[in-house]
Amino acid sequence: MSPLQVGQWLPQPAPDPEARTKPPHTTTRTFQASKAQAKRRKYFVEAIFFNLAVVTKAPAAPPADGMRKNTLRIAVAHSLNRHARVSFFSQCASFSSAPAILLVVTSSIHVIGGGLAGCEAAWQIAAAGLSCVLHEMRPMVSTDAHKTDRLAELVCSNSLKTEGLNSAPWLLKEELRRMNSLLLQAAAQARVPGGQALTVDRERFAEAVTDAIESHPRIALERREVHTIPADGIAIVATGPLTSGALAHNIGELTGTDRLYFYDSISPIVDAESIDTSIAFRASRYDKSIDNSSDYLNCPFDKEQYDRFFDAVLAAEPVPAHIPEDRTPFFESCLPIEEIARRGRDTLRFGPMKPMGLREPRTGRRAYAVLQLRQENARADSYNLVGFQNYMRFPEQARIFRMIPGLEKAEFLRYGQIHRNTYINAPSLLAPTLQLRRRPEVFFAGQISGVEGYVESIATGLIAGRNAAALALREHIRPFPRETALGSLCAYVSGADAKNYQPANITFDLLPKLDEAAQQLFRRDRPGRHAEVCRRALESLDAYLAVPV
Ligand SMILES: Cc1cc2nc3c(=O)[nH]c(=O)nc-3n(C[C@H](O)[C@H](O)[C@H](O)COP(=O)(O)OP(=O)(O)OC[C@H]3O[C@@H](n4cnc5c(N)ncnc54)[C@H](O)[C@@H]3O)c2cc1C
Repeated sequence: MSPLQVGQWLPQPAPDPEARTKPPHTTTRTFQASKAQAKRRKYFVEAIFFNLAVVTKAPAAPPADGMRKNTLRIAVAHSLNRHARVSFFSQCASFSSAPAILLVVTSSIHVIGGGLAGCEAAWQIAAAGLSCVLHEMRPMVSTDAHKTDRLAELVCSNSLKTEGLNSAPWLLKEELRRMNSLLLQAAAQARVPGGQALTVDRERFAEAVTDAIESHPRIALERREVHTIPADGIAIVATGPLTSGALAHNIGELTGTDRLYFYDSISPIVDAESIDTSIAFRASRYDKSIDNSSDYLNCPFDKEQYDRFFDAVLAAEPVPAHIPEDRTPFFESCLPIEEIARRGRDTLRFGPMKPMGLREPRTGRRAYAVLQLRQENARADSYNLVGFQNYMRFPEQARIFRMIPGLEKAEFLRYGQIHRNTYINAPSLLAPTLQLRRRPEVFFAGQISGVEGYVESIATGLIAGRNAAALALREHIRPFPRETALGSLCAYVSGADAKNYQPANITFDLLPKLDEAAQQLFRRDRPGRHAEVCRRALESLDAYLAVPV
């Protein structure tokens, strides 16, 4: 849509850059209405275009003397925040030489990608009273995983994870519901029976989102592939794990990363309390450690145990390929264990399970093979199975990894996964507001921002949308409280270890630990502890939302 379709802005004097930084700043601009518009005296409404949010009032008087016919003089306020707009509007009444039309100029906002994150972002921008353009390349250009031209298509499972009260996925959804998430509303409408999980009819879900976006007067949907991030205005990049090639290249240039595509794999994580430390022993390989501590827990195998485990890995049932015929390579340094195992019986014990430099305290000898468990966080309440990325079905992982000595009763906080992914190295690039540190007018949301999962993508879309709207209105962007699941996702993407960065689902691991007193209180009560974390998260979200912008 061209901004000049309904009339013609006349040449303006160059804006004073100094003055612009001191809101409220106003200028008077002239607008040449068409004859028909002038006749119908509707130009004040028709002068709306996408980067102008309009607080409008019909012109009380005809254009001022000495102006060309059909020429309007319009008071324009640059970058007023919501409170200033109200006072500016009343000032406008005393603006004798101009009709009482007030246009609040904001930067144009482009949302690139009409998937889960992009649709939620566009909706939040519109909810803040601003207009935006949502760019979606389908159906002209499709991806290997999408099947339809609908917005917010769920490419694989139809589950938005558990609604089990006081679980981390429930908390994230509950926070989104409290913030009027479009996609969570659509999920409620499209819900189908699925036990505790929020499972949806994917067609009804995508249809509900598509209808809401297409019929919103402040969202312009443009079906085209975007090749570069727009140089002007505000942009939210939400093009997902299957971002098209040209744009991925441009993002690579912008972020200084030459490779964004790869088959991404994630190692499983187990709850520390479920590890049998009478078997798993603490040691660092060759006693090398940054602070001389024994950083790892080590699960020792004898030959018989190793052989049984190896055979089980080879025979494990895999997750069916999401994208048949996909040729995206595995990272050679990050191969799934099944792939390593297929290269020979000893490859695992010379690879991720090598026993060198580790002496078992019980026997004083080196084990036949060792799985190392690496502490996941400062709290040491969860451990990562080092190098155990894989694509086995989840129940298979539980069964086979419980064959590991020391993990017989392991509780899995996360299972290993593998899929093609495109994401940026968020901790080195993004602020907690999801803005690119080097170009704050560019936001990243969804899977490409370095989160994992449907609801996490929706959540970062919501955050980026709200923050982009605040930036456009020159309001202060308030990061979400750290206690919330939303704030914890932002803290993770912007603050995790950039060197070994891997996208994450929401888990209690990402949320801050309870204070000492509460920990004592819930020492032997895991459900109680989780309920308390959720209670605090929602309380702080409510307090955050209660503060006017
Ligand atoms: C094959 C596969 C299966 C997955 N399965 C699951 C699962 O079962 N459960 C789960 O929780 N997560 C899953 N994920 C991970 C993730 O949650 C989903 O990919 C999710 O859809 C991400 O949301 P998003 O908004 O970031 O991206 P998407 O929903 O993919 O949306 C991105 C949109 O951007 C568009 N686009 C791309 N490039 C351009 C461009 N240059 N210009 C304009 N538009 C563009 C695409 O067409 C798409 O519509 C899977 C990922 C993949 C790749």
